[in-house]
Amino acid sequence: MLDSIRVRLTLWYTGVLTLVLVVLALITYFIFWRSTLQRTDVSLSELSAAFLTTLDAEVKDQSGPDSLKLAGQVAITEHRFRDHVFAIFDSTGNIVVSSQELPPAAVGSAADVALSSPSFQRFLDDSARSELFFANVKGGRSGYRGFARHFSSSGIAYTLVILQSLHPQQEMLEEVTSTFAWVIPIAIVLASVGGYFLARKSLAPVVAMSSQAGRIGAANLHQRLAVQHGKDELGHLAQSFNSLLDRLSQSFERQQRFMADASHELRTPVAILRGEAEVALSQPARSLEEYRESLGVLHHEAERLTHIVEDLFTLTRADAGQYPLQPGDFYLDELVAECIHSARTLALAKKISLNFEEAPESPIHADESLLRRMILNLLDNAIKYTSEGGRVTVTCGRTVGEYVLSIADTGGGIPAELQPRIFERFFRADKARSRAENDGRGAGLGLSISRWIAEAHHGRLELTRSDSAGSTFTAYLPGPPSPSASNS
Ligand code: ADP
Repeated sequence: MLDSIRVRLTLWYTGVLTLVLVVLALITYFIFWRSTLQRTDVSLSELSAAFLTTLDAEVKDQSGPDSLKLAGQVAITEHRFRDHVFAIFDSTGNIVVSSQELPPAAVGSAADVALSSPSFQRFLDDSARSELFFANVKGGRSGYRGFARHFSSSGIAYTLVILQSLHPQQEMLEEVTSTFAWVIPIAIVLASVGGYFLARKSLAPVVAMSSQAGRIGAANLHQRLAVQHGKDELGHLAQSFNSLLDRLSQSFERQQRFMADASHELRTPVAILRGEAEVALSQPARSLEEYRESLGVLHHEAERLTHIVEDLFTLTRADAGQYPLQPGDFYLDELVAECIHSARTLALAKKISLNFEEAPESPIHADESLLRRMILNLLDNAIKYTSEGGRVTVTCGRTVGEYVLSIADTGGGIPAELQPRIFERFFRADKARSRAENDGRGAGLGLSISRWIAEAHHGRLELTRSDSAGSTFTAYLPGPPSPSASNS
């Protein structure tokens, strides 16, 4: 059950709400308790003032040693209040007069605090510390608020003590507490039910999205999630998911196209192999020459097949990031010279002049066999797409931190509208021509692989020029930071 966000959200919400309500109730209780106590203190102080005025007046009417006691009895009777205890103490702490000595009829239902109790004695002792003294005294049902005030009569010091029962205040506070005790749980239950429905409502689009997403598979990868409110968080989530699907379906389409192109490219050599073998086998007796010719065709097609399969294998491993680079230190200018040497036979066959302009010493840390493959691919293309008697020029220079390797030919160029596509896999500007001109070997993978090789070395490969006068392919490869660094 806790696996559901809805339930977890509701529980969190309820927990936080409970905490807030309990804290609020405690604060309210405290404020209420303090204000009732303050009000009690004010009324006690006012009562004491009125009491002392009466006492003063009565003392004047009395005579003899008990004049204060008698005046006190009159004042107590006059100011009799329910639940109040009045007492006057002399400076030694002895009771001069108290409401508890008077009959209940005279003072109402007098409170039953024991004026000799330890709690009261402590209050009395503490009261000596200040002119007006307030403190709580234990006793009765809910305790008392005690007030002590010092005064003098006929030059003798006395202390007036008034105790007020806290029972009514206690009752009020209990009422507040019991109100909280049922209001808070009801509020929590209502809020949790509301919270649950709210969570359910706000998570409903997520549930809908997840079931929609669950129905999307390879067969219907074009389907998208419905975006209800594009600007809210869930709208953003749906949009991100949809753009993820866009990328997925594009890569899926690329993958499918790649598979289709690959099988198409493989079908031709396989068909030739089969056809040639069938022809050779169908005639019971053939001359040695004829067999040699057939085997030559079979060998040639098998080579082409191997070439395509190798290229495909390289690209799939490169895509998966699994092609292991084997970097080493060598000189780029020497590698270029070597490749030119290898391509010389091809160029000679087409009477193409192959020039390598003198290059500075170019130490490089790279995968030599991959760079060789890239340079040979570019040379191969330059010779393949240049007509007889043309020229291919290779230059190897350097700018800050980069080697710049250019291979320029005087071929017919690539039509401008096709130039952006030549690095795509299996793309050939002129399928029939390129296959025929390279003994049917080109499968349109050479430039894709070459570009990947440059990028795997943190460089790039670009078609920098292509028009009717020829094309130039330029590879930029990371080199030493400055020309002098290479010499050190
Ligand atoms: P291919 O095996 O067909 O040569 P590439 O990937 O090497 O495949 O090249 C892709 C296409 O780019 C070629 O089919 C060709 O149309 C065009 N191309 C590549 N290099 C040149 C060039 N030097 N001159 C003219 N066209 C070129």
